[in-house]
Amino acid sequence: MVRRGLSKLIRTVSQYPGIEDLSMTTNMLLMESCATELKKAGLQRLNVSLDSLQPDRFRRITGGGDLARVIRGIDAALEVGLMPIKINMVVMKDVNIDEIIPMIYFCIEKGVSLRMIEYMPVGSDSKNLQKKHFPISEIRKLVAKEFELEEAGGRGPGPAKYHMIRKHEFFIGFIAAISQHFCESCNRVRLTANGMLHLCLGHENQVNLRNVIRTTQDDDLLKEAILSAIQKKPFGHKFVEEDSKMSIGMSGLGG
Ligand code: SF4
Repeated sequence: MVRRGLSKLIRTVSQYPGIEDLSMTTNMLLMESCATELKKAGLQRLNVSLDSLQPDRFRRITGGGDLARVIRGIDAALEVGLMPIKINMVVMKDVNIDEIIPMIYFCIEKGVSLRMIEYMPVGSDSKNLQKKHFPISEIRKLVAKEFELEEAGGRGPGPAKYHMIRKHEFFIGFIAAISQHFCESCNRVRLTANGMLHLCLGHENQVNLRNVIRTTQDDDLLKEAILSAIQKKPFGHKFVEEDSKMSIGMSGLGG
């Protein structure tokens, strides 16, 4: 959201033929003042990274983030109809396990959905797998002590497996990035702001689309470059066997 001309970019992308779903992953720090403009530009929905509802802890995890601003951003987005909002909470041992239940109540109250994600060691945080990893099976056990969970069946378009808390008509997604390796069904690649197409969160391999865009005006050549890049998508990560080789962090990838 610090990119100059973001709403113009969103307007341009939203007008391409074939774009049916346009969402943004954000920490929400700048949303309060831009929600109306982004909605008007064509943004439809949001994914929000939010690992804690305790201001001090949130500041520590995010390196200075202001929780109150994030919550005001969520309210502003809801107000203008940027929906659905999905909260992504990375659950980390010795960091925020005590916030699993409060986060569910927060999301129920706000009317936003929630995905709980296993910690993945990417970028500078790559040495911390054992220290921070808390498996989805344990997360689910903690949730099941408080709520009756029903399997919602199937997966959405992404990697989450959804359960329902019927009493509150609330869906909660679990993403077992490490313990139940879902790489074989992964349908994600990520294009960074500088034009690199990253094929997997667990590998350094990337394809430079910026060079293609700068050397040709031919959309077919660009399409060909994207399709041939996707052929090189790795079969999956090896976070458990070896340290992540990614030099770029999760925040740089929009992961
Ligand atoms: S293939 Fe890569 S990006 Fe996809 S789920 Fe596995 S680690 Fe994540």
